[in-house]
Amino acid sequence: MLNIRMVDLKGQYDRLKTDIDAAIQDVIDSTAFINGPPVQKFRDELAEFLGVEYVIPCANGTDALQVALMALDLERGDEVITTPFSFIASIEVIKLLGLVPVLVDIDPLSFNLESSLLEAAITEKTRAIIPVHLFGQCANMESILEIAGKHGLRVIEDTAQAVGTDYIFSDGKRQKAGTIGTLGTASFFPSKNLGCYGDGGAIMTRDQKLHDRIKTIVNHGSRVKYYYDEVGVNSRLDTLQAAILSVKLRHLNEFNSARQSAAAEYDKLLGEIPRLKIPARMSWSTHIFHQYTMILDGGKRDKLADYLRSKDIPVMIYYPLPLHLQNAYKDLNYKTGDFPVTESMSESVFSIPMHTELETDQIEYICHHIKKFLTR
Ligand SMILES: *Cc1c(COP(=O)(O)O)cnc(C)c1O
Repeated sequence: MLNIRMVDLKGQYDRLKTDIDAAIQDVIDSTAFINGPPVQKFRDELAEFLGVEYVIPCANGTDALQVALMALDLERGDEVITTPFSFIASIEVIKLLGLVPVLVDIDPLSFNLESSLLEAAITEKTRAIIPVHLFGQCANMESILEIAGKHGLRVIEDTAQAVGTDYIFSDGKRQKAGTIGTLGTASFFPSKNLGCYGDGGAIMTRDQKLHDRIKTIVNHGSRVKYYYDEVGVNSRLDTLQAAILSVKLRHLNEFNSARQSAAAEYDKLLGEIPRLKIPARMSWSTHIFHQYTMILDGGKRDKLADYLRSKDIPVMIYYPLPLHLQNAYKDLNYKTGDFPVTESMSESVFSIPMHTELETDQIEYICHHIKKFLTR
């Protein structure tokens, strides 16, 4: 029994058990459960790892996006551009703050915002762009930043799936995803590349004013205890989670390399199957494979997924219904046909197991069955 999992958090914990157990026990012994020293320690370590001036820890990746938008002082009705092919969080927080999500289709190689379509979506009311670095690979930041600069727009990078990805500028300079735009956001949801054992998130910036503002917003809008300068939220990273994250951050490069090695093995075994497209690598980014997501043309995706599941191979569809077609967002007045690339991806993508503990025999078994189904 190969016992293949989509994500193997238990196998990873078993390897780190001594350090993680000690970190957890220290927090319990200290009883500093809220904003204890491990939170500041992890904050500084992450800032150092990313090469960014400021990191503000918060409760989860969705809060990180919400707080980032709150810090930009947008007004009701202002427009924020983002992608229809992602997790719901980005358009959800735009909506919650009384702002208007404006969606732009993706490019079919990186699955990220198609920057050549951005300008057509910009109006008088546009204030910000939220590119999502989906599946572990960056959106085309250089061209997004150029357009943003020309129109005076802020850029919030959603780095939930790309903590540790390098953006590669055309002059060869590298910078960590999430440190390039006005603000970056991260999620430490357990299955993310840097995941804790519950919820966690962070906001990154190089701007001292924005840093001070965000620190205030996540703390109920307060700078001095029991005095409130603005309406804020309560969004803290748990001390326990911070202690766990410090241990895991030390291994993040090694975790991301393990994912890249698994991806390379998949590439080798799946690269030459008709109608199957392995993940494209963009010249402007490294890929840390939060997901290994392929495209199957020809309408057989769901049958392939059923077949693989019958062989005890987990398969996930990220994402099965584009954001512009979700019931909750009908009032945005989008319809089928508005974002053809996104819609076609929703029908043809599938993701196979990807984590730090994948074994070669598991990868071979998975690929064997994909091949068997597609070449029979
Ligand atoms: C996971 C994720 C989020 C939300 O993070 P939470 O910590 O679950 O709130 C936001 N955006 C993307 C792209 C994600 O994958």
